Amino acid sequence: MPVARGPTPRFIFILLGAVLTGIFFLSSIHKSTPSAHQTSTSIPTKQFDASVDRSLLTGHVIAPKLGNETAKAELGRAAWKYFHTVMARFPDEPTADESSALKSYVYLFQRLYPCGECAEHFGELLKEFPPQTSSRSAAAVWACHVHNQVNKSLNKEIFDCANIGDFYDCGCADDETDGSGKKKVN
Ligand SMILES: Cc1cc2nc3c(=O)[nH]c(=O)nc-3n(C[C@H](O)[C@H](O)[C@H](O)COP(=O)(O)OP(=O)(O)OC[C@H]3O[C@@H](n4cnc5c(N)ncnc54)[C@H](O)[C@@H]3O)c2cc1C
Repeated sequence: MPVARGPTPRFIFILLGAVLTGIFFLSSIHKSTPSAHQTSTSIPTKQFDASVDRSLLTGHVIAPKLGNETAKAELGRAAWKYFHTVMARFPDEPTADESSALKSYVYLFQRLYPCGECAEHFGELLKEFPPQTSSRSAAAVWACHVHNQVNKSLNKEIFDCANIGDFYDCGCADDETDGSGKKKVN
C-alpha cells in the first residue's frame, strides 16, 4: 500500500526561494514608486543622451521645506552667484560631453536644492524652459532668463540679461592654455 509522504526538503527549499524572490520583487517596485508628495519632474526623453540616467536627474525633490525666510534668501543669493558663475566659466564651444554634463548638473542642482519648495517651483520652470547648454552664452542667457522667472514670481526686479557676461566676469582673467590648446586648470 502506498505511503503518503510529506513535501520533500528539495520542494520546500524551492518554494521558499520562490516566495523570497516574490517579496524582494514587490518591495523593489514599492520603493521605486514616488509617493504623492514626491512628484518627479516629468521631462521629455529627448532632453537626455542615452547614456544619462534620466530617472536619476528628474526624480522627486530631495530636500524638505525650508521655512526660515532669512535662510532661504541667503541660500538663494549664494546659489544664484554660484549658478551664474558656472555658466560664465562654461566653454564657448563645449564638446557634446561637456554640454551633457552641464545639462545633468542643472537637473541635479534642481533636485538637490536645499529649499524643497524652491526646488519644486524650479522643477516646473525647467519643464517650461529646458537648460540650454550648446555654448557659454546660450547657458548664461538661459540661466539669466530662469532667474528672472523666479524674480517675477517673487515680485522682484527683472535683470537685464544683455549685461550678463560682464556681471558674472569673476575676474579670473582670460582662459590660459597649456600650449596644446587645452585649458590649464591649475
Ligand atoms: C533655483 C532657485 C529657486 C528659488 N526659488 C525660490 C522660491 O520658490 N521662493 C523663494 O522665496 N525664494 C526662492 N529662491 C531664492 C530667491 O530667488 C532669492 O535668491 C532670494 O529671495 C534673495 O533675493 P535677492 O533679492 O537678494 O536677489 P537674488 O534673486 O538672490 O539675486 C542675487 C543677485 O543676482 C543678481 N540677479 C538678479 N536677477 C538676476 C538674473 N535674472 N540673472 C542674473 N543675475 C541676477 C542681482 O545682482 C541680485 O542682487 C530661489 C533660489 C534659487 C537659486
